Amino acid sequence: MATLEVRSVWRTYPGERVALTDASFAVGEGRICAILGPSGSGKTTLLRLIAGLDRPDAGDVLLDGVSITGHPPHRRGLGLMFQDLALFPNMSVHDNVAFGLRMVGWPRAEREQRVNDLLEVVGLTSVGRRRIDQLSRAEQQRVALARTLAPQPSVLLLDEPFGTMDEVQKSGLRLELRSILNALETTTVIASHELNDAVAMADELVVMNEGRVLQSGATGTVLGEPASVEVAELAGYVTLALGPVRRGRVEEAGAGAMAVPGLTETDAARVMAHPSSLLAVPAESGLGSGVAGLVLRTRAQGPTWLVDLAVGTRIVETRWEWDLAPPRTGMRLAIAARPGTLRVFITSLATLPAPSAPTAPEPPAPAPPGPSSSPPSPDGAATGAPDGIPEEPPASAMPPGSSSRAMAGPSRSAAPEPPVPVTRREQRHRQMPLS
Ligand code: ADP
Ligand code: MG
Repeated sequence: MATLEVRSVWRTYPGERVALTDASFAVGEGRICAILGPSGSGKTTLLRLIAGLDRPDAGDVLLDGVSITGHPPHRRGLGLMFQDLALFPNMSVHDNVAFGLRMVGWPRAEREQRVNDLLEVVGLTSVGRRRIDQLSRAEQQRVALARTLAPQPSVLLLDEPFGTMDEVQKSGLRLELRSILNALETTTVIASHELNDAVAMADELVVMNEGRVLQSGATGTVLGEPASVEVAELAGYVTLALGPVRRGRVEEAGAGAMAVPGLTETDAARVMAHPSSLLAVPAESGLGSGVAGLVLRTRAQGPTWLVDLAVGTRIVETRWEWDLAPPRTGMRLAIAARPGTLRVFITSLATLPAPSAPTAPEPPAPAPPGPSSSPPSPDGAATGAPDGIPEEPPASAMPPGSSSRAMAGPSRSAAPEPPVPVTRREQRHRQMPLS
């Protein structure tokens, strides 16, 4: 167990391809850190530099505060597991795990003890004598993990550990791997292009793109308070409104207008939100944020519904908890957003796209929901105009504290109680807003 720090690391490959530009981050002792970024963003290059398989052009890698940049890989005490696992297919599980220990001369008795302990940790004791090619991919994954852990690395580096698995296999293995790593308390860095991996596994998150670290910090902070549009998009946020600011509202043709106090008339702004914090509500409810859209499709999610709305030229996923029945396709619905979860980014008027028309046809007028099917009504918020977009959006539309000229919206911890309908399910989401 150790702390790891990557300090201002640069790497340019032959042919002038810059793979890393001034990359820095730190991982605390025993913490699990995910490096999240699209393919080609420099994740593998970073792991190879940490492991010592490649050298940075500039910058430093520190283990427990001591530079290891000049150390050869075998003296770093790190364990690196690649996506292809690199197991010996015709050798047994046991022999694969023991292989590295044998190479570095562990005495037989200690080696056997270590292998048996690890097979127990990863739940493979009963298949220890089986050959690798007689195992499922998830089991092979656990063998590879045991083999990487065998020499007791102080830091574990996993490159796309779920790369070739399907979503069902992945979701089980993520939780499994997480509990194994938590039990071992090994400092771990996981490179992945999948947000779900990071959300399920990581205490800390490093978001990368094009060789740069865009943001790093506690996973909940990075996902809840992305510092730029780029990070917000990688964290799954969508744009609710993008346009000029008029009378304190961000206006976008075809989407609506959202109140953002504190912006000046010369500004343009982008208001972003995570789908998990968005509820679709009847347009006439007055609970909307000022942005509305037309129902493109609905999808069941347990007892509730996910609703894709056409908002301007975008598709915004929302949740529908107003009624047990899903809304009709083509219906116009307002989007209620929990204020503490909105992010506001100042942009320049000059960079705005040309205004566009709504993408879906004007639907028939919606039927109001029956009183028995309505969720609990918030106090004093139902003041909307009948056509769905209130002339003055209610307080629920306003990102409090978003007057900051910096790109950030309000901190979630400072968010007031939301005046949008809050169900028990919503309460759960408040603790895990990005689950
Ligand atoms: P990721 O793991 O995030 O997909 P990589 O670290 O593999 O990204 O690659 C980062 C960039 O460096 C990419 O543009 C890739 O094409 C380039 N790259 C990676 N390895 C080499 C290499 N050995 N020689 C030249 N370019 C490379
Ligand atoms: Mg890679």
